[in-house]
Amino acid sequence: MEQPADRDFPVVGIIGGGQLARMCQPPAVAMSITLSVLAASEGDSAALVIPDALVGAHDDLDAVRRLAKRCDVVTFDHEHVPPDVLAALADDGIPLHPTPAALRFAQDKVAMRRRLSDLGFPCPRWTVARTADEVAAFGADVGWPIIAKTPRGGYDGKGVRRVDEADELGDWLAVVGEAGPLVDGVLLEESVPFDREVAALVARNPSGSTAAWPLVETVQEDGICTEVLAPAPGLEPAAARAASDLAVRIADALGVTGVLAVELFEVADAIGQPTFLVNELAMRPHNSGHWTIDGAVTSQFEQHLRAVLDLPLGDTAPRSRWTVMANVLGGSREDLYPEVGRILGQDPSLRVHLYGKQVRPGRKIGHVTVCGEDLRDLRLRARRAADQLRGAPGR
Ligand code: ADP
Repeated sequence: MEQPADRDFPVVGIIGGGQLARMCQPPAVAMSITLSVLAASEGDSAALVIPDALVGAHDDLDAVRRLAKRCDVVTFDHEHVPPDVLAALADDGIPLHPTPAALRFAQDKVAMRRRLSDLGFPCPRWTVARTADEVAAFGADVGWPIIAKTPRGGYDGKGVRRVDEADELGDWLAVVGEAGPLVDGVLLEESVPFDREVAALVARNPSGSTAAWPLVETVQEDGICTEVLAPAPGLEPAAARAASDLAVRIADALGVTGVLAVELFEVADAIGQPTFLVNELAMRPHNSGHWTIDGAVTSQFEQHLRAVLDLPLGDTAPRSRWTVMANVLGGSREDLYPEVGRILGQDPSLRVHLYGKQVRPGRKIGHVTVCGEDLRDLRLRARRAADQLRGAPGR
């Protein structure tokens, strides 16, 4: 699809055809913005709803250039585009948001830890290890167990390990120095005794305006986020504001453009007050922000488009006292549609979002959202609907 050169409304290119790109389409339609995606296959989640998807790999410079040629600005559905491809696009003069210089800190956890520590942002104690002796020394220093991470390429807890003894990491240390996610070593972190995990979501546009949504609690099971509670319950407004401010300061300091999710550990300080340590960064719409589609005045997907186009940012206020989002993970049920009908019949205020993805066990295939006044009731309803959709027995 060739775009007329003089069209008034912009074309936003998205590298990657996953559900995040897909969920940008409704607000793009509303604002008459054209999206164009580079998807790995015609059946990718976003390629099913965004016309004329290009099919190609995100690490294939020619394919990425073909996308860029169609677009006024290019953004991302994931952080896996290699730095050399990003550098070539930047050299071509393609506006990229986030910029490669910022995106680096979402692509490489060691670069992120180093930069945030240099800037004085609170992180777990960390180091990079290349040998078993270095692992042993770090464990002895911070206390066992420790957490080991591949600096690049991890998601949903893949690439994260709890390590109880130095010799458990032999398989990872053996490939340090070889091309791959462990080329520069293994990231080691102290195991943070957190009370819970929360996420601060902000958007920043190239003009430097920022907007933050309320801090949310992310409930994780086996390294996968299963539920998001917005706002994070039981926090004093001042503590929630401190976490949001932290995310805004990180967005400013790193020059992030687009949506930034800052995953945080909430830890009690010496007098029991909540403080926050940064776990990791994502520079794109994020699972912790799916609640904003139904629960906030401006969704993270609309905001991401506004931000990358340097439009004014929208109001991030919640529409209800509480919003609960539960992820639908692939389970035993393959044909979801009949169950969708049943769920909608049971709970007319529930919102169901499915991503058109093939069902595979544990894969995020959709989410449900429900808004209202009674958090306990909302959690039960969201969980029940998500379990029903996957074909799991209710909890
Ligand atoms: P991914 O990139 O796969 O999302 P994360 O770095 O977010 O990986 O880690 C996945 C999960 O592992 C976190 O949500 C948290 O529950 C746990 N985790 C990660 N780092 C630490 C740490 N330093 N201390 C304790 N738990 C951790």
